[in-house]
Amino acid sequence: MTTSCRGTLAYTVPKLTDYSAAALEKAAGELLSVLKEEADKSWKSETDWKTFRDRWLSRKNGILTLVNDLWLKTAPKEAKRAVGQKVNEIKLEVEHAVEMTEGLQLEWATTSQPASTADSVDISLPGVRRPIGAEHPVMKTWREIVSVFQKLGYSVAEGPVVETDYYNFEALNFPPNHPARDTQDTLFIAGQQSKPQRERLLLRTHTSPVQIRTMEKMRPPIRIVIPGTVHRNDPPDASHSPMFHQIEGLAVDTNITFGDLKGTLDHAMKALFGSSVKTHFRPSFFPFTEPSAELYVTCFICGGSGKRGADPCRPCKQTGWIEVLGCGMVDPNVFEFVKDNGYDPRKVSGFAFGMGVDRLALLKYGVDDLQYFFQGDVRFLQQFG
Ligand SMILES: [Zn+2]
Repeated sequence: MTTSCRGTLAYTVPKLTDYSAAALEKAAGELLSVLKEEADKSWKSETDWKTFRDRWLSRKNGILTLVNDLWLKTAPKEAKRAVGQKVNEIKLEVEHAVEMTEGLQLEWATTSQPASTADSVDISLPGVRRPIGAEHPVMKTWREIVSVFQKLGYSVAEGPVVETDYYNFEALNFPPNHPARDTQDTLFIAGQQSKPQRERLLLRTHTSPVQIRTMEKMRPPIRIVIPGTVHRNDPPDASHSPMFHQIEGLAVDTNITFGDLKGTLDHAMKALFGSSVKTHFRPSFFPFTEPSAELYVTCFICGGSGKRGADPCRPCKQTGWIEVLGCGMVDPNVFEFVKDNGYDPRKVSGFAFGMGVDRLALLKYGVDDLQYFFQGDVRFLQQFG
């Protein structure tokens, strides 16, 4: 390729005769290198930029129009798809280059003479597209869950990610030898050995410490939902991450029963997964609730049949049920820690529940590897835009 002496490259869009991937790649490569060179020179004045914009984007004989006419329209049927994809890529590159150089040119304009208003505007040109971001699937799921409980009158409470042993374990009735206190599960802050155990700092392993912190500040009745980031010493794999998200709920009042717990969560699951899901409680154990249960919903992927067509349904392992959260009635021992603020276990009762946001997002969007959520790969995230 040759360059003329004054900036504009002697480039014309070639006719394609060979539509193989290699030929297409070569032609696109040449075009994009010309684009880059011209973009580098086009920001210095408004006139240069407009020439650049029109040369590439003008509907009549602009380079993009020619690419469309000479490459895509003439492509044989079997090559259409590949050529179409390539032409789209080129289009995005060109629009991006024009947009970027316009930004630079505007900076230039603010330090120079204002542009003449007599300059005509070519209204046939496409507008400058500003790509807008979209909500991350985990945050979207987070927001949906929180909003279900907000509609039931719950308020949102938050707390620190770096917690003390007291709030993370002791006040939640974790006995001293409970496995969750083990360094295998908990990420402790270094250099805390000289402090008494209850004051030692760690990265909270659940959002439950916020239950205690809220009850210390607010007298009953309370209804709170607690979203947040938590950490555990789990190596990253398809279903684990050292950082993940939980949403926790707590309701305390006089005469709260397990019936209230069931009714609330049954309603919440129907609001989240559709009115046809059924809920099912199985006995479980958590240190801070008694009795405790795991809540299952009918698989919202296979509708509870355990099958997808002739294939087994993987997310529910063919059982037709998916475990969604842990819950239970607040253990009276937990109330003992905040008794002085009106939480006398003989007078009040309550229920609590907690769920993993990331796992629900995985199920909801049919993603098979948790790591995709945290790698920041725009190609993955764009699919949810
Ligand atoms: Zn299923």
